[in-house]
Amino acid sequence: MPDSAPFPTGTPVAVLTTEPLDRLLDYRAPEGGCAVGSFVEVPLGPRKVLGVVWGAGQGFDTARLRSVIRCLDVPPMREEMQHFLQRAADYTLSPLSAMLRLATRAPGLMNPPHMRRLYALGQGQPERMTPARARVIAVLREHGGLPFTLGELADLAGVSPGVVKGLVKAGAVVEVAAPRDTAYPPLDHARPGKPLSADQRAAAQAICAGVRKGGYGTWLLKGVTGSGKTEVYLEAVATCLRAGRQALVLLPEIALTSEFLKRVEARFGARAAEWHSGVTMTERRRLWRMVGAGGAQLVVGARSALFLPFRDLGLIVVDEEHDPSYKQEDGVHYHARDMAVLRASIAGAQVVLASATPSLESWANAQAGKYHRLDLEERFGVAELPQIDAIDLRAYPPERGRWISEPLQQAVDQRLQAGEQALLFLNRRGYAPLTVCRACGHQIGCDHCDARMVEHRFQNRLMCHQCGETKPIPQSCPSCGAEDRLAPVGPGVERLAEEAEALFPDARIAILSSDLAASARAMKARVEEIASGKADVIIGTQIVAKGHNFPLLTLVGVIDADLGLQGGDLRAGERTFQLMRQVAGRAGRADRKGLALIQTHQPDHPVIKAILSGDDEGFWRAEAAQRQAAGMPPFGRLAGIILSGPDLAVLSDLANHMVRNTAPLRAIGAQLFGPAPAPIARIRGRHRIRLLVKAAKGVALQDALSRWRAQFRLPANIRLVIDIDPQSFY
Ligand code: ADP
Ligand code: ZN
Repeated sequence: MPDSAPFPTGTPVAVLTTEPLDRLLDYRAPEGGCAVGSFVEVPLGPRKVLGVVWGAGQGFDTARLRSVIRCLDVPPMREEMQHFLQRAADYTLSPLSAMLRLATRAPGLMNPPHMRRLYALGQGQPERMTPARARVIAVLREHGGLPFTLGELADLAGVSPGVVKGLVKAGAVVEVAAPRDTAYPPLDHARPGKPLSADQRAAAQAICAGVRKGGYGTWLLKGVTGSGKTEVYLEAVATCLRAGRQALVLLPEIALTSEFLKRVEARFGARAAEWHSGVTMTERRRLWRMVGAGGAQLVVGARSALFLPFRDLGLIVVDEEHDPSYKQEDGVHYHARDMAVLRASIAGAQVVLASATPSLESWANAQAGKYHRLDLEERFGVAELPQIDAIDLRAYPPERGRWISEPLQQAVDQRLQAGEQALLFLNRRGYAPLTVCRACGHQIGCDHCDARMVEHRFQNRLMCHQCGETKPIPQSCPSCGAEDRLAPVGPGVERLAEEAEALFPDARIAILSSDLAASARAMKARVEEIASGKADVIIGTQIVAKGHNFPLLTLVGVIDADLGLQGGDLRAGERTFQLMRQVAGRAGRADRKGLALIQTHQPDHPVIKAILSGDDEGFWRAEAAQRQAAGMPPFGRLAGIILSGPDLAVLSDLANHMVRNTAPLRAIGAQLFGPAPAPIARIRGRHRIRLLVKAAKGVALQDALSRWRAQFRLPANIRLVIDIDPQSFY
């Protein structure tokens, strides 16, 4: 990268834009000059687009270059960030412009900062209350009185700006003037944290020493659920803030943020800044600008927060680091845990990877000495780890069309009598995964995907979990026409709830499933309600496994522990182990001992045995040995190649051509598998073919892949996606 001396007016500069081009564009520096990292507005054809000055221009025909229109009034992109985006692009084999889009996902960056009018709830009452007016007021109430811009408010309420203006006239909504973006309230890092146990203190001291020393380092903080990992890393956050640096905490699930923000507030006296898809546009813009200007000390967010323009990032925490949702699987395919480590290594920051059940990747990195490992062995205080037992479904088979075995039913009854909560876990949304015609055997599938439609009884529709398409449940079979012969097969949480209602008629039953809450906010509210005791039996999908605190919960029943072990996915064993341990960990957090009962047809399966025995290290060692022997991640490397397009023949031809021209891959000793129809061979009407590249660790895989890919010209409607370190293989 050239030096960062400003470019005087008229000198050629190379600009990276957010447009999907594969190269930098040359412009002349604007009036007043610019510098490396300046955010600029540049002309591109007839349009004006956002860009960043990446370095000096090539200096071709300077006279013919167009000029940068202007520099934007935001802090320039730091060299560290440029470097990070470049490395991330190289790693994920994504165009740099795509990385810049990730790094500029805040609205209004091209607008000048100024005072603006916001709209808040007023005292007045409109004479006439129309449905549109009521929606505006409801939106303002729902967001706790936070003011909005006119456009945002109108959009959120789905009304025209005129409706809002009408309410202003009536005094029901008021206009307030506010600086466009303000700093977040300062966090008081001098306040003392909770007194720590000896284990917690040792772990906190180690990480804090790393933070104080500065520079890069990664910690794997392994501790059973409830052992106080959060308390430990909040100490590291405090130390980081004390050093005047910024901290970022990543959470795998938006629904977890509110609980966490409360803990931050209790610890530091103010709320952290929040970054995820549920945050308003106004807040996003404010956060993006403030994080760069130093007006946000602690950000709590989803994986995309890694691409915020931190001014001085000193600590990144990845909580529940094993969680599969950290892998982004559309657009740029990246893993937030790996990108956190990359960003920290460039920024000179410390990383804390926290989990009760680390990914094999992180476990192996700790074994190899790349990460420092810290263990919290016990739950904090009087809370004990739950006992985990299996229920052998071969010995206690539920009746046909039922899924709760006799022993599980009795255990739930006991809890109900004791006034405690029970959770029944089933990782399947909807009512039934399959709708079959009893006359002809036809299974109702999606018209656009190679997937079955899942019945959702609450919505009274069938839904495709691939593309989201829904249709009414038909009266007659679409294949043979038989009337009233369509029947649900297999359980989803909605059906399980029906069974629970019949078995436990006096219990209050609540379903917790991502599709049943209208918004992240509604989900939060639901979780809090349940935690406060407003339900006796919770029926939940994997969303309940993710770190929520249910103090009254003492029994967890896993309906089908074998579900995740089918299918032979590379990580099937690991995922099942993690999920079962996490779910079981929900039981018995306060002063009541918990019990987890796991229904299985194969109690002797090594993974089930590992879950029951609690021998975590033994499980990881065995899993690691298997992967190592097979040359699989994390001991070997994989890249998934997904070709998709409307015409299967064209697609197959291309795939066959690709597997015949593999010199760049052979040069690094990589193997190529496929082509094979993807397990879901059609999504949204597009056929899908997969290839898999397997290579040894330590070879230049990305380089070989990009040379291989460069040999082929793709027809316009074919898409090729390369997924480095794939986590899913559908
Ligand atoms: P984890 O993140 O490992 O699941 P948490 O940090 O959420 O664990 O701790 C579990 C519970 O124990 C929380 O309610 C927390 O406030 C409490 N706790 C943990 N450590 C302490 C401590 N040192 N002093 C007081 N309470 C603690
Ligand atoms: Zn579909």
